[in-house]
Amino acid sequence: MTGIYRGRIAPSPTGHLHLGHARTFSIAQQRAEAANGALILRMDDLDGPRCTAEFSAAAIEDLRWLGLRWHEGPDVGGPHGPYTQSERMPLYIEAFERLRASGLIYPCKCSRQDVLRALSAPHEGEEEPLYPGTCRPATSIVSTEDRDGINWRFRVPDGETITFHDGNFGEQRAIAGRDFGDFLAWRKDGFPSYQLACAVDDALMQITEVVRGADLITSTFRQLLIFRALGHTPPACFHCELMTDETGTRLAKRNDALSLRTLRTQGRTPEDLLREMRGAQPGNKLPRA
Ligand code: GLU
Repeated sequence: MTGIYRGRIAPSPTGHLHLGHARTFSIAQQRAEAANGALILRMDDLDGPRCTAEFSAAAIEDLRWLGLRWHEGPDVGGPHGPYTQSERMPLYIEAFERLRASGLIYPCKCSRQDVLRALSAPHEGEEEPLYPGTCRPATSIVSTEDRDGINWRFRVPDGETITFHDGNFGEQRAIAGRDFGDFLAWRKDGFPSYQLACAVDDALMQITEVVRGADLITSTFRQLLIFRALGHTPPACFHCELMTDETGTRLAKRNDALSLRTLRTQGRTPEDLLREMRGAQPGNKLPRA
């Protein structure tokens, strides 16, 4: 029997999971267990060319090897499925149409780097630049433009201070239009941005707390605006300190030496890794693989 708490882990199958994922996902599991709640596995595979079925299967295998267990997910099913983003397009389209009808998104013809990147969560150093407002209509409009074939931006409430209480870092605040600008909601190739897909899923899967890396705090402000626009109650948030490698750089999937697979083939056990992760202070060097 699970309580009201619903947490989630949401890997992107663009490579093998590494120690940084293991740490964040273990914290998510601990928090769900402590609350006698449920943990949901969601596969964030919208970034078509970079996500593969092999990496999805590998992520599930690695997470199970590590000892993580989830109550709902692509492999175990559940009442809020499907749990793989590429199978949830009708839900994203519905959200898009609601945002369009409220005049909160507008078509944008600018071709910028942030448009290319918007399918994936913006991790450290990947923040989208402040949009200068080139295509922003003077007042909010309900555009009849075709959904696909053009990019769409979410119109942020300029000057409004957006706040939330982070379970780990305390009060967080950002000013819309100054700290972040109109962000990509839908891409012309017919896919929602990470910000839109993530907010829609967390809402529809009734997630009560989002546990993820601290570099996504900036995304949380945007997602809070989407929650509000769609009339959903936002989840609580707990952002985890990022792990860095011996050069002080955030672990990324390219750090294959610290991938769970590599560590496993070197004979390391899940217990070893969990012990090391607990010992590694945030921002501190990790033991060498
Ligand atoms: N799939 C995203 C990532 O791996 C999830 C981010 C999130 O937890 O919201 O970065």
